[in-house]
Amino acid sequence: METCFSEDYFTARARFRDAVLRAGGDLTALAITSKGPGGEDLTIDIGWFGAERPKRVLVHSSGVHGVEAFAGAAIQLQWLDEGIRDVPENCAIVLVHVVNPYGMAWLRRVNEHNVDLNRNCLAPEEAYAGAPDGYNALDGFLNPPSGSSRESFYLRAAWLIWRFGMPALKQAIASGQYVNPKGLFFGGTSLEEGPRLLRQFMRDRMGHVTHLFGIDVHTGLGPFGVDTLLATDVPGSPAFETLHATYGNCVSSLDPDRSPAYKAKGTYDTIFRQALPDAAVYFVVQEFGTYPIVRVFRALRAENRRRHFGAGDPNRVVGSELVDVFAPRDEYWRAAVLCRGRAAICDALHLAALQLELLLKSNTR
Ligand SMILES: [Zn+2]
Repeated sequence: METCFSEDYFTARARFRDAVLRAGGDLTALAITSKGPGGEDLTIDIGWFGAERPKRVLVHSSGVHGVEAFAGAAIQLQWLDEGIRDVPENCAIVLVHVVNPYGMAWLRRVNEHNVDLNRNCLAPEEAYAGAPDGYNALDGFLNPPSGSSRESFYLRAAWLIWRFGMPALKQAIASGQYVNPKGLFFGGTSLEEGPRLLRQFMRDRMGHVTHLFGIDVHTGLGPFGVDTLLATDVPGSPAFETLHATYGNCVSSLDPDRSPAYKAKGTYDTIFRQALPDAAVYFVVQEFGTYPIVRVFRALRAENRRRHFGAGDPNRVVGSELVDVFAPRDEYWRAAVLCRGRAAICDALHLAALQLELLLKSNTR
């Protein structure tokens, strides 16, 4: 099982491509302009199974947050190895391998422009401007403008948690900012190349889709090896209640008081909703917990700081500590990822089948 996890982006991509073709799928590679650490081409790879012009589609994606891709890519490889068969008529299964290939290749959570792609996909009426209340006040702590210093990180973090409370702090720090391009959780200045290419691909290939079911795999929030299914839909809405009925109590909203997450601006599911404005969208982020949030945050802050202000070649890969917190080399954790990754896919297929049945019933009435 463990072997579904790859050592690096290029190995993962080669295995994915090979597995898609062996499983009889169509392969598309969307190339981004940026290159890998050795000058290699970087691509978002898409494996397509089933109808060419589907009405219903299940999209499974990995690596919106680059270095978090190891888990999602392993789940995809496991699915491909186990076989994708009998896709119903008018349906398609689409696997999107590493939405942020730069981030996985360079071991960064963000992309080539320091942009957090899960804060970058704003709706047309939203502006790439501003920061949450509290972010600017915390900027000196979040983004120290030096390579390193002697400091008592955990003490300062504990003081902030005590003063503001964890839910408010998470919301202030991580919900997305558009003012500091070298800062953490920067959402960019316009839609980045990768999501733009993907949105266009969906517009070109999914124009007939009436129902889209999405699973997007992330890591780093929540208890070790436990997954939470995060929905951007608000509790009480038909989409949220349908997701809840399908996945059960694993489903959570982005409420910082009630889930490991926080409300974020510009989340990635927005591009699906933009590309398919008339489709019903049932989308969850499958978020696998790793280590306590303060430890994960400490690693992110240190890596960002070294990247922008550290000594030496700015183009060296400095993110190995991020692999430790976002893709632990722990047998239990990796087995849990593969097991729960498979379960979420089964539930999504079940939901898709139920929706299809409902539709057929209403058509024959
Ligand atoms: Zn993530």
